[in-house]
Amino acid sequence: MFQHLSVEKMNELERVAKGIVSPGKGILAADESTGTMGKRLQAINVENTEENRRSYRQILFSSKPSVAQAIGGVILYEETLYQKSDDGIPFPHVIKNKCIEVGIKVDKGLVPLAGTCGETTTQGLDGLAERCARYKSEGAAFAKWRCVFKITEHTPSPLAIMENANVLARYASICQSQGLVPIVEPELLPDGDHSIERCQCVTEKILAATYKALGDHHVFLEGTLLKPNMVMPGQDCMIACSPETIAKLTVRTLRRTVPSAVSGIAFLSGGQSEEQASVHLDAINNETAHRPWPLTFSYGRALQASVLKTWSGKAENADAAKKVFEMRAVINGLAAQGKYRSSGPVNALSGESLFVPNNEY
Ligand code: 13P
Repeated sequence: MFQHLSVEKMNELERVAKGIVSPGKGILAADESTGTMGKRLQAINVENTEENRRSYRQILFSSKPSVAQAIGGVILYEETLYQKSDDGIPFPHVIKNKCIEVGIKVDKGLVPLAGTCGETTTQGLDGLAERCARYKSEGAAFAKWRCVFKITEHTPSPLAIMENANVLARYASICQSQGLVPIVEPELLPDGDHSIERCQCVTEKILAATYKALGDHHVFLEGTLLKPNMVMPGQDCMIACSPETIAKLTVRTLRRTVPSAVSGIAFLSGGQSEEQASVHLDAINNETAHRPWPLTFSYGRALQASVLKTWSGKAENADAAKKVFEMRAVINGLAAQGKYRSSGPVNALSGESLFVPNNEY
């Protein structure tokens, strides 16, 4: 059998992957690129400076230690890996001191895939092994790479599905060779008026191709996590679906395509409101079909939108913003165990749609 990882390395990758998604834990995606963070800050009238990005992220990382009961990992953007808290402690240490694993976005964003109808692939393989080794020495234990698909009449094309599956597999095998757990993220965007059935069918095709490629590239599945979209109707679809339907079709799709060897599945929030993202995750964890993997969250917008607004760039709001983050973490930690009993959005902010057309990260 072809085996490129030592038994020790495999054991370590599996231990880290399982730890991040252990019961009641999920992931905070705080890896917005500088440009994306600029859009988030602009919405609260805060200038996109390095210091403002640092001050904001410090709120997320300096919440009370008990947040580690609901957050197993935090994904950072490269800049943040090298930033420090007010008292001079590097952020990776601040996070690890809470027994939370540090992750790093390693892709370099989307580029057009020539020969397709406006589709994309994701770049960043050049020098990736060296970068992974460096990030590991700075304290990172896992990585993220995002590929993006969009539903239109003619997309996603077989070419885009094959190319993105292959690049995710190359990324995953390079990360593992350097001792980082890869989060494999093939995101199907919510843009469009497609039905939930179309979303299911396309998600199935994407995931099946992704796991074929991961197998071809000898990726050690136990040492990986998957970050998929939930199966939902398109943003402009006129037919609403209940949380139970979303849960049923999401779990069905994953059962058909994701090997049970994968250590965990952590959904992206994809423009859902904070409350919806929690309610849907809870419904998924109450689905009766057998689920061989932990099903949890790796939310960006759905863990941060009301934190950002509460902060609004003012130091005097930092403590209130921290509390909002802690509350969202607890709620999603409960949802990851199917124990969130919603009585409606906890505040006006958490009910707001967070949809961004053609969302970039
Ligand atoms: P959202 O939860 O905002 O969709 O983002 C998660 C993410 O990391 C996308 O790559």
